[in-house]
Amino acid sequence: MDNSLGNKIIELIQQRVVAAAVKTPLRSPLVGFASAHDPILETLKTEVGPHHLHPTDLLPEAQTIVVFFLPFGREVVKASRQWAYVEPVWSRAYVETNRLIETISTELKQQLAAWGVKAVEQKPTDNFNPSDLTAVWSHKSMAYVAGLGRFGLHKMLITAAGVAGRCCSMVISAPIAPTRRPDEEYCLYLRNGTCQQCVHNCPVGALTVDGLDKQRCWAHQKNKRDPDLERGCGKCAIGPCAVITDPDIYLGRVDSRQAKIIGARIEYENP
Ligand code: SF4
Ligand code: SF4
Repeated sequence: MDNSLGNKIIELIQQRVVAAAVKTPLRSPLVGFASAHDPILETLKTEVGPHHLHPTDLLPEAQTIVVFFLPFGREVVKASRQWAYVEPVWSRAYVETNRLIETISTELKQQLAAWGVKAVEQKPTDNFNPSDLTAVWSHKSMAYVAGLGRFGLHKMLITAAGVAGRCCSMVISAPIAPTRRPDEEYCLYLRNGTCQQCVHNCPVGALTVDGLDKQRCWAHQKNKRDPDLERGCGKCAIGPCAVITDPDIYLGRVDSRQAKIIGARIEYENP
């Protein structure tokens, strides 16, 4: 399959992130592609819920799902680790990155139209029903389908760059070769039963090893001291899987047992 379109999309997203007028430090974006006809999409009706849309519900000519993830810089995570409440740097990162994602999505859609490709995007955030907290489109599920990572104990997607960041997805009418999905767990708890840092970090007990109480989590996020300044919470996203710069070290794919043990802790203790 000709991948020139995929390469052009990656290049556009990378350029927009480099040129972005934001205070938030961002690392290099990750971009993944999935076939809009991947059989795994059928399972979302069971895994996420019967309300979840299929790509062809958004765009009847859908061929590919494009997903991009903008990883926060290490400084954002470090700041959040030093603050018990929602940290202003984290909050700004959340707001700024979502706005940047909207800008990139709009520009990408316009450029695709110029190339003769139809596209339908979804909002990066606040796209769920506040009463039952269900969303008709899950960006993180699309990121999984498009090979960007694996789900962790915290129910978020851990990418090869870590979990701290924001992702978005778009359905387009042109075919692009799919990204291969990782075949090993990125979550240390799911790998070997260790860690659980995300559970320990949750300030309201919404996250346990048995699952996520979405209503309790949302109640905490809604009741912030200042809903305009304090967006997101993210305390479950600042553990050892927050920022990954070297997956081999993070995942312990190194020779000596000593380095294997130290690997993940370096990421967490010396961010
Ligand atoms: S903090 Fe630890 S247990 Fe939680 S998702 Fe990350 S690696 Fe897994
Ligand atoms: S976002 Fe905050 S309240 Fe919700 S599960 Fe994570 S740490 Fe807990």
